[in-house]
Amino acid sequence: MRESGRISLGCNFACIHCQNWEISQQFAEGSVCGEREIAALIDDAGRRGCRNQNWVGGDPIPHIPFWLRVLLWETEKTPVFFNTNGFYSTEASSLLRGVVDIYKIDFKYGSDICAEKISGVSGYWKVITRNLREARQRGELLIRVLVLPRHLECCLRPIVSFISEELGPETRVNLMDQYSPHWRAAELPELKRRLKPDEWEMALKIAYEAGLKNVIT
Ligand code: SF4
Repeated sequence: MRESGRISLGCNFACIHCQNWEISQQFAEGSVCGEREIAALIDDAGRRGCRNQNWVGGDPIPHIPFWLRVLLWETEKTPVFFNTNGFYSTEASSLLRGVVDIYKIDFKYGSDICAEKISGVSGYWKVITRNLREARQRGELLIRVLVLPRHLECCLRPIVSFISEELGPETRVNLMDQYSPHWRAAELPELKRRLKPDEWEMALKIAYEAGLKNVIT
């Protein structure tokens, strides 16, 4: 699934500020759970009223074949919530067609340079925008945008413009102000600190100026 060079385990990205780096970037200790066992757990949760099964990570992208095999054992048809950074190949996208009910996609960067610098991936914009367009056509879509310090013009502005113009101003967007530095964030000066209040105000202004009408904060 990877479209760039860094090694990944629980995630196909290597964001230098990852708060879950212990599970996204290295092997963790734990017990192995088989496909049938997980399917039974999901079915049990579904029978008790659980509204969806949330495929998450790290990111579920490196594990799509596994999750598809789990689905084969399920009997309750609990809706699939695909919780992802959205950087997957056309082949992966084909596998997801007709399987995923709700796409929750993190739209991280408005610039390939920032994506390379922070997450270690190349060709970000082309891939994420293709997958967002497809997700929009296929099912429910929620886009999550974590505002990064000093990435308002290079990232946030093109992100919200794309969403409003290409996906529609009614698209549901969760704009988040809770960035905090983790893991190797100190390697980039602008990521050493949290968002300032005036940056957050500016972020909201940029989102509304782009015409977005369905912003959750
Ligand atoms: S996409 Fe998310 S889980 Fe993966 S490395 Fe980046 S912040 Fe961590």
